[in-house]
Amino acid sequence: MKILLTGGTGFIGSRLVKHLQFSHELTILSRNPIRAYQKLGHNLLAIPSLKDLNNLNEYDAVINLAGEPIANKRWTEQQKKRICDSRWALTERLVELFEQSEQAPETFISGSAIGYYGEQGQQALDETSIIEDDSFPHQVCKTWEQIALKAANEHTRVCVLRTGVVIGIEGGALAKMLPAFRLGLGGPVADGQQQMSWIHISDMVDAIIFLLNNQQCHGAYNLTSPNPVTNQQFSQALSKQLKRPCLFRAPAWVLNTAMGEMASLITGGQKVLPKRLSGEGFNFRYKELDHAFKEILLRR
Ligand code: NDP
Repeated sequence: MKILLTGGTGFIGSRLVKHLQFSHELTILSRNPIRAYQKLGHNLLAIPSLKDLNNLNEYDAVINLAGEPIANKRWTEQQKKRICDSRWALTERLVELFEQSEQAPETFISGSAIGYYGEQGQQALDETSIIEDDSFPHQVCKTWEQIALKAANEHTRVCVLRTGVVIGIEGGALAKMLPAFRLGLGGPVADGQQQMSWIHISDMVDAIIFLLNNQQCHGAYNLTSPNPVTNQQFSQALSKQLKRPCLFRAPAWVLNTAMGEMASLITGGQKVLPKRLSGEGFNFRYKELDHAFKEILLRR
């Protein structure tokens, strides 16, 4: 298959490239193609922008993972605009190219996140849950999904990835948490009862490949393990695996003061279940958090 991939240099994208690069022909959209070659190797093509493309006739599939990191900087109005523009404008441009193609790619897989569900406490959520929410993550994801779904027609199927907290050593939330937990300074946040819907990086990549290969898949999919946990359970499991105490607790007000609105990513959460992936035959390798942590932390 000939695949156009955006975000291929990122945490998830670079793992995906490792799995796809010898069996498929990959073109990576990267703002820095030289860095992309250095990171990913030379047996792929890296392009700096979509400006020179008039259509997507030569591609069989597009996978769209690019976007300004959501949890790196405080959510000022300017940063919110960067988070939105980097996703919405790029996805709009891809949809435009789909529309300009005589032979459009048959598959469009595009990012989203479980932030789509907003904060729903302990309520179990699946792809059919109806959400009315005015939080920033919901607004980002809702519009991002709506734009991507415009590419859907009788020729092109669109899958959107409502991605949970991806855990792996090379990036994402776990990489940020590990230094404190390794020092025995980690612990739950706020009352620790907020839900964390996590997914192992290997299952994340396998699920994207499952959606790529299964022609009947379309629409929104939750990419989360079947066993979400509370923030407290997550912290305890990580501390146990590292053989460190789990004594500290970060009060919500400290995070709210330090991070502003962005603290809601940690002090809030959602209990999301992968109803569609499980129902359509995807097998998770890492269903339990202890097993996932063991693989990630012992593999090194
Ligand atoms: P990363 O932040 O690791 O990588 C995203 C890639 O997007 C980067 O490698 C970069 O590529 C490109 N990018 C970054 N900023 C911008 C920008 N301002 N404009 C255009 N492109 C930009 O993301 P992940 O791999 O962790 O995640 C992939 C997608 O999945 C993201 O959209 C993310 O929001 C979503 N997601 C991830 C979760 C996670 O736990 N990791 C959870 C939920 C959703 P380059 O520098 O080469 O251009």
